[in-house]
Amino acid sequence: MDKETIDRLQKTLQIKKEALEKELSRFATKDPKLKGDWDTKYPRIPEGNLEEAASEVEEYSTSLPIEHSLELQLKGVNSALEQIQKGTYGICEACGKEISQERLFAFPEAKTCEACNQ
Ligand SMILES: [Zn+2]
Repeated sequence: MDKETIDRLQKTLQIKKEALEKELSRFATKDPKLKGDWDTKYPRIPEGNLEEAASEVEEYSTSLPIEHSLELQLKGVNSALEQIQKGTYGICEACGKEISQERLFAFPEAKTCEACNQ
């Protein structure tokens, strides 16, 4: 893969990373101790207001799976960016062949080629 193509994919990944972090920061805080880990903000339970407390808890339980999925996506993006740095980007993890550029442009954090993904 030529440098220009990698640069374009790197930019796409960077934009994706920023968007994911922005999305995550709406309802989660970055864990300062663990790189790449986010914690969903735990609801602050208002004292003596059961109705409000219930809705806060409900909100927490709905954002938890979303947080988890965003975090997974962010991890994939970050590891692709690391691979670009190491020069191992675009190589299928399973068979060691190059991943096609069409696949990378559609899904820049892909770790496997089409054949291995099936
Ligand atoms: Zn493969």
